[in-house]
Order: sequence, then structure tokens, then C-alpha cells
Amino acid sequence: MDKQEINEALAELLFPDIDKTPEYYEQMYPERGLPEGARVTRFAPSPTGYLHIGGLFGALVDVLTAKVSGGISYLRIEDTDKKREIEDGVSGITDGMKAFGVEFDEGVTGFGTETGSYGPYTQSQRVEIYQTIAKSLVKQGLAYPCFCSSEDLDSIRERQEAEGADIRGYFGKWAKCRDLSYEEIEKNISEGKSWVLRFRSDGSPDKRIFFEDMIRGKIEMPENIIDEVLLKSDGIPTYHFAHCCDDHFMRTTHVVRGEEWISSVPKHIALFKACGYKVPKYAHTPQVMKFDDETGDKRKLSKRKDPEAAVSYFVEEGFPKESLTEYLLTLLSSGFEDWRRANPDVPAMDYPFNLKKMSSSGCLFDLVKLNDVSKNVICRMSASTVYDRVAAWAKEFDGEFYNVISADPDRTREILNIDRESPKPRKDIAKWSEVRDYISYFYPEFYRKDYSLPENISASDAKAIVAAYAKAYSASDDKDGWFGKIKELCEPLRFTPNVKEYKSNPDTYKGHVGDVSTVIRIAVTSRRNTPDLYSIMLLLGEDEVRARLADAGANF
Ligand code: GLU
Repeated sequence: MDKQEINEALAELLFPDIDKTPEYYEQMYPERGLPEGARVTRFAPSPTGYLHIGGLFGALVDVLTAKVSGGISYLRIEDTDKKREIEDGVSGITDGMKAFGVEFDEGVTGFGTETGSYGPYTQSQRVEIYQTIAKSLVKQGLAYPCFCSSEDLDSIRERQEAEGADIRGYFGKWAKCRDLSYEEIEKNISEGKSWVLRFRSDGSPDKRIFFEDMIRGKIEMPENIIDEVLLKSDGIPTYHFAHCCDDHFMRTTHVVRGEEWISSVPKHIALFKACGYKVPKYAHTPQVMKFDDETGDKRKLSKRKDPEAAVSYFVEEGFPKESLTEYLLTLLSSGFEDWRRANPDVPAMDYPFNLKKMSSSGCLFDLVKLNDVSKNVICRMSASTVYDRVAAWAKEFDGEFYNVISADPDRTREILNIDRESPKPRKDIAKWSEVRDYISYFYPEFYRKDYSLPENISASDAKAIVAAYAKAYSASDDKDGWFGKIKELCEPLRFTPNVKEYKSNPDTYKGHVGDVSTVIRIAVTSRRNTPDLYSIMLLLGEDEVRARLADAGANF
């Protein structure tokens, strides 16, 4: 047998059940025929754990990159590591994406469901494709079976360490299965020895590769010389080989993935070339980092220490999806905030995102900033939207609160509308889980009395203020009349209605009108700071207001 015949025989020996050819799949998954410049991107998570905030970040880059270019983004599930897979891994990913409004054009849509004509979009259902390409590589002499046991591999590693070898791994003189004869292979197989399929690298240690990372620019690295594993002993591909086959047949143009994969690019370029495929463009996104609360140092978000590492945290806390995407966009692109100022009402997903303008250094996740962004987002929502969102959140995460607010939705909407739907709405709420406390004083079920006073107001003055106010108060006053009465209380109680005057003569008065209204506010709501007190009192109603004034007067 000549070399070619041996390779063909070997391919049959290793893959007797594979009857398809690469051409079959080329026809099944044709070029997408998109307009020039349209980009095809994919988000390709493994269902091995909770959805990390860095995943959502990457997915946003995928979706925006495709959208801006008139292309396609899709979701592929990389489930080749069955040992590490977790039960709700896939739905955790798809639910997290949906919860935050990240929508792909194609791919997996939930557990066992998908859409698009380049599927299946789950790697465990594509084994025949990988094996077909693997078989073809064997036929061309570009891949070979390796029977080394883990002990053999350990011993190679030990010897490489002892020698202080610069490059470690399975290659060159270390690759003992690289040149097994057909007869040896056949014998091993007939003895039932397990094998993996390895790539036959033709790389050389003194050659370098160059590629242009869309985010980091030109990168130069040593060429790959390792005979990388393509198929594991169970016939399932490694990440490297699956990446090559899938991104080729799904016609990905831009591979956006975490920076931890940069060092694998030489392997990937070698594989794409060996298969005769066009190498996609790569964009390696920076890690999501934070400042450690204790040390103050920058570090990776960690599942163990940081609840905000998991996307589910933001769902449970009730951050609106718009807030999180809005915030992630500020991290993704330095131009976003300027764009937002110029386009306050445009949905964030319409941002003209440019991969090349992304920063390559780790992006800093800052919950305080997210809260600020979210307050800005929520303050612009109508009361009825806020009600719907709060109710939907509470139904899932706080049944008691849900029952109370949904007993009278109109009243809850009115409560939520105080200082809202105006040119300068209050920015009090960052997430739905805060609303219970925020409006608690309207509901006897949640109201907790707290009549503690600021230091500058004595209990006897507070008692005198509420007593005088209870006499003056009329539920039918309009806002000016209401405030007029508070001002009128001042002088007889030795407070001044004029804040400026108080500031220039602080010794002449006990305080000013602001202190008087603070006392009334505390009496009525047990808070020092609330939205418009007049509106609050209207919604509480006369009887409740009078009862609270009396109670506070007796308990200051
Ligand atoms: N499944 C890989 C991961 O979760 C994906 C890397 C890629 O996007 O290619 O890290």
C-alpha cells in the first residue's frame, strides 16, 4: 500500500460508520449570502455553570456587532464536556439572555429548542459532523490515532520538566504515536485499546504567526507545533476542533470570545488551515473585573466572593433589563455615554457599536455606577410601567409584597407616580427589590414607626409642631394652601419661614420652615426624606394623616 492507500485504510479503520464527506456538509451549510460587510457572530457558552456577567457582556458584543453590520448572531451550546455539565445549564443561559433582552437571530432558544438553518446548534448533536471532518483529515495524513495512556502522558511531562524543555506537550520526538505503522494501529484497535485522534502539526518552533485581533490589534505569536487532540477517546471533539468545524459550517465571520483564548489562536489557525477553511476574524474581550472591597486591588469577579458575578443576581434583585444593558454598554464602549446624551430616547441596543473602539484592558464592574445608571433608567419610566415591572418581579420574588400592591393597582400606581412623569423625576429607585421599603409607609402591613428626630430638633418642639399643624391641617387644601399653612406655623413656634434669614441669623430662631416640614414628614411617614409630602398626604387620606399626627405627637 502506498501512503495514500494507508491513510484511506486508516480512515476506514478508525471511522467505519462515517459515510458522509466534508462536501456533504459544505452543501448542507452553504455560504450565507449576506451583503458585503455583514458579520456573523456567535455566543458559545458551555452549560457548565451559572451564567456569568462576563457572558452577558460577551453576548451583547456578539449581538451588537452583528446588528450594526446587518448580519446574524446566534447562540451555540458547547456541551462537549458532559462531566461538567449542570442540570439547568442551558435554560440558565437562555433565560438569562431573555431576562436582559439579548436576542440572537438564530440558535438555541431554550432547553431542546432552536431556530435557524445552520443547526443543530448544540455540539453534542453534531458529533457526526466532527467525525466526518476528522475522517477526512486522517485520509489526508493530517491526523492520527494516539494510544498513549495518561501514565504515558505523565511520563512525557515529567521528562520534559527534567530536561527543562521550552515547549511542553505532545509534539516532535515526544509524539510516540505519530509514526505508528498501519499494522501497529490495527493491532491496538483489535485489542480494544482506547485512542484519541491527534492533529499532525507541521508547525515549526522558529516560525511565528501574525493575526489582527479586532480589539487588540496586531498580535504575533510562535506557530503551533503541538499535535493537539481533536477527538477524545469517546469520539467527542475538544473545544479546539469543535470551534474550527462549527465556526466554519455555521459561517461565523467574527469570533468574539474571552481573552483566555488568545493563547490558543495559533492552534486554531493551524486547524482552520489544515481543514482548508478561511480563518475567522478574532476579537478577544477583556475580563470583567472589580476593585476588591478589602484590598482595593483590581481582580476578576469571582463566583465565590461576588454575588454580582452571576446574571441571576440581577434578576433576583430586580434590576430592569434596560439598566443592565445600558450599564454594560458604558463598560463596552467609551463612546456610549456621549451617544446616550445625544440620543436619550433611543433603545440602547440601537447603539452604533464598533468592536475596534472597545478597550482591551479589563473592564471594571461597579455596582454603585450600575445603581446610578439604573436610577436614571427607572426615573424615566411611567408609573404604569413601574407598576407592571414591580408587580412582575414581586410575583416571583416577594409574594407578600405582591399581594399587597396588587390588591389595589390603581392606588399603587398613584403612589408610584409621586414625583414621576415630570421633567425632573426623582431618582430614588435602582431596582425593584427596593420598592417595598420605598413605599412601605403607605401600607399598614409594612409600616414601621420611627419617630427619631434630627439632632437640631427637640422632642418638645416636635410635639408643639405637630399639635399646631393638626389644628391647621385641612385635607382639602391645594398645594400652595398646604405649604402656606406650614409656613404660618413657623413664627409662633420661633422658627422662620425664610431659610436664608435663618442662615444669616441662626441664633434668633430654633430652625426654619424646612425643619418644621421635616417634623411633619417624620410624623406622617417615619422618614426624613420622601417624595412630595403633599401628594403623600393626599394619598394617605385625612383620617390616616390625623391618626399619624396624633400618634407621633404622643410619642416623639
Ligand atoms: N465554550 C467556550 C467557553 O465557554 C466558548 C469559547 C468561544 O466562544 O469560542 O469558554
